[in-house]
Amino acid sequence: MGNLSYRMIYIAGAPAGLLGVDELFNDLFVTGATPRDENLGEMLIKGVKKHNFVPKPALKDYQDVLVREYLKYYQARTGGDAQVTRDYGQWEGHPREHIPWFPTVSEELCNGCGKCIEVCPKDVFQTLENGKVMVVEPFLCIVGCCFCKSACDPKAILMPQREMLDQYRHGQKRAT
Ligand code: SF4
Ligand code: SF4
Repeated sequence: MGNLSYRMIYIAGAPAGLLGVDELFNDLFVTGATPRDENLGEMLIKGVKKHNFVPKPALKDYQDVLVREYLKYYQARTGGDAQVTRDYGQWEGHPREHIPWFPTVSEELCNGCGKCIEVCPKDVFQTLENGKVMVVEPFLCIVGCCFCKSACDPKAILMPQREMLDQYRHGQKRAT
């Protein structure tokens, strides 16, 4: 099946490795699909299913995340970037995308105060049209940092347990 791209994407609280997403995004982009297309979610799921298993109960979560990822891709391409593959670097010898350390924002609890964006030294968050905040670049998050969680008064931000990182330190877990 050639050399398909591989992306680790954070879906419903867990990282999921997906094949062929970059190719799918490119295909959709060149055929003129925009983030405003009503059937974008369906097209993305259909494309992803060609190379990946998508569990039925998680379909909506996959769709939401893929639409969000395509929005980023689309913005990068329309902003003039031909290539949007990003190097997130490494952490303790592991590709950063293999370390599931990043915030999760509860849309219900977020009041749109923007404090998380103020304290975050990276471009992890983006403000949505409804004023709430979402995580758009989880792997830019600094491993071990918790600034945004501490700054969020309504406790809308969750971070993983710090102990989880122990398994990735000092080569205790091999990159897969
Ligand atoms: S700090 Fe919390 S409530 Fe404020 S915008 Fe960020 S996630 Fe939402
Ligand atoms: S944990 Fe730190 S680096 Fe990560 S998103 Fe929050 S403030 Fe930004």
